[in-house]
Amino acid sequence: MNYCSNCGSDQLTSTIPDGDHRLRVVCENCNTIHYQNPLIVVGCLIEHDGKILLAKRGIEPSKGFWNLPAGFMENGETAEEGALREVEEETGMSVTIDRLHSVFSVVHANQVYLIFKATSSSIEYTLTPESIEIEFFEPSEIPWNEIAFSSNTHALKAFLQNPNSSEVHLGSYIRNS
Ligand SMILES: [Zn+2]
Repeated sequence: MNYCSNCGSDQLTSTIPDGDHRLRVVCENCNTIHYQNPLIVVGCLIEHDGKILLAKRGIEPSKGFWNLPAGFMENGETAEEGALREVEEETGMSVTIDRLHSVFSVVHANQVYLIFKATSSSIEYTLTPESIEIEFFEPSEIPWNEIAFSSNTHALKAFLQNPNSSEVHLGSYIRNS
């Protein structure tokens, strides 16, 4: 951040405000404290007849790798609405959410994934620039070495270990730097 989004000043400093315990970016001109917090990524693990949908990414990061349809939650929507919107945008499909499946924190990237288990009544889809290939995989055919993100691997493995469990699977990825 170079300029204050409240007043436009470039007089930003990093300081611990009174009553706080972390460094924050504070505007010396208007005293606005610019909190920076994790973003929420919402998506779906979609099942149809025991097969799981994966979409091959047409955009960076991890272009060419398979992932569960997911993306950043927008203001003004619920997590479930966001997950369904992302599925629609990336695959053209309307699916039914069954339950929350996993919560996965990507600590170094400041992201939290909420992955819902969903069911699709059909396998008709639409390819988009975001998804250049879509396939319903048998569990034994999942291309584990070509999965885009640790959050997806976590959700897929947890699901396949016990597909009918209603447990919410917690996980995290902390990169060793
Ligand atoms: Zn300001």
